[in-house]
Amino acid sequence: MTAENRADTLSPDEAFATLGNETRLSILQALGEADRPVSFSALFDRVDADDSGGFNYHLDRLVGHFVDKTTAGYELRQAGRRVVEAVLSGAVTDAPVVERTRLDQPCHYCGAPIEVSYRQDRILKYCTACPGRDQSPSGVPDAPVSGYLGSLPLPPAGVQGRTAGEVYVAAWTWANLEFLAEAGGVCSRCSAALTESVSVCEAHADEGVCDRCGNRHAVQFTADCPNCINDLQGPFVLQLVSDTRLLHFLTAHGLNPVAPSRDAIAAVDRVHMDYEEDVRSVEPFEACFTFSVDGDTLSLTVDDDLDVVDAER
Ligand SMILES: [Zn+2]
Ligand SMILES: [Zn+2]
Ligand SMILES: [Zn+2]
Repeated sequence: MTAENRADTLSPDEAFATLGNETRLSILQALGEADRPVSFSALFDRVDADDSGGFNYHLDRLVGHFVDKTTAGYELRQAGRRVVEAVLSGAVTDAPVVERTRLDQPCHYCGAPIEVSYRQDRILKYCTACPGRDQSPSGVPDAPVSGYLGSLPLPPAGVQGRTAGEVYVAAWTWANLEFLAEAGGVCSRCSAALTESVSVCEAHADEGVCDRCGNRHAVQFTADCPNCINDLQGPFVLQLVSDTRLLHFLTAHGLNPVAPSRDAIAAVDRVHMDYEEDVRSVEPFEACFTFSVDGDTLSLTVDDDLDVVDAER
C-alpha cells in the first residue's frame, strides 16, 4: 500500500521541519476534514495553493510520515492525524480562563467545598478549608500556598460551552483515562513504553502535608516517556489505578472508577487519594498501601519491581 512512500519515519528534527510550511499544514487540515481518501486534483482544489508544481512538492514532503498515498488517493497516517487533532484541541478563539469558582463538590480529604480554576491548559483544584494534597505548583500565578488538591490537564476545546462544574467533570474524565493508560505503562500521548520509578521521603511527617517533601504521601511515582515529552509525577496510587483488585474494590462499592458520575467523583477521589501507606523497606523498595471505603479495606503490597505481590481485603 505504501510502496510509493519515500520515508515512513522521520527524526524529530525532520518531522518539525516538514511541518514548518503553510501549504503543508493546509494539506493536513484538508485531509483531516475528509472522511475518505482524496484524489490529487480534489486535494489541490481544497488547498489554496498557487500552482500544482509547488503543491505537488509540498504534498510529496508529507507523504510517508504524515500522509499515505494509495491507489484510492491521499489520506492521513496516524502521525498526520495526531497533528491535526493537537492543533484542533488548542484551536479556540481566545485562550480560555475560568476564574476560581466554588463548586458543590466536597474535598475528598475534609468534605469542605472545593474551588477550581482553569488556565494554561489545566484545571487547578483547591480545598476551601484543609491544606490539601501538597504544595501548589510553581509557575501558577494565582496559586495559594495552602489547599492545593492537584491539577488536571484539559485542552482549551474542553472548556468551550461548559460551566465551571462541567469543565471539572470533563477534565476529571479526560485525565483519568490518561492515568489508566499510564498506570499500564503506556504513554497516553504516543503509546511508547514508560520508564517508571519510585521515590520515598525518608523523614516524612505523619499528618497532613510534609514540610520536607511537600507531599501528603511519602511514596511518589514518576513515569517518563523516552519518546515524547510526556511525564507524570504524583502519589504512588497513580501506578495502581488500573490494578484489577483496586478496580474491583471500587466497583464492589458501587463506584465507577473509569468515568464516575458528577456526584461520585469525590468518593472515587477519596479512595484514590486518602489512603494509608506503610513503607517496609526503601532499598530494595517495598511498601503496603491500604485503601478504604465504607469501613472495608484493601491492602496492596508492592515490591521493588513495582509489582503488586500481595493483596488483602
Ligand atoms: Zn479539604
Ligand atoms: Zn515527606
Ligand atoms: Zn510518549
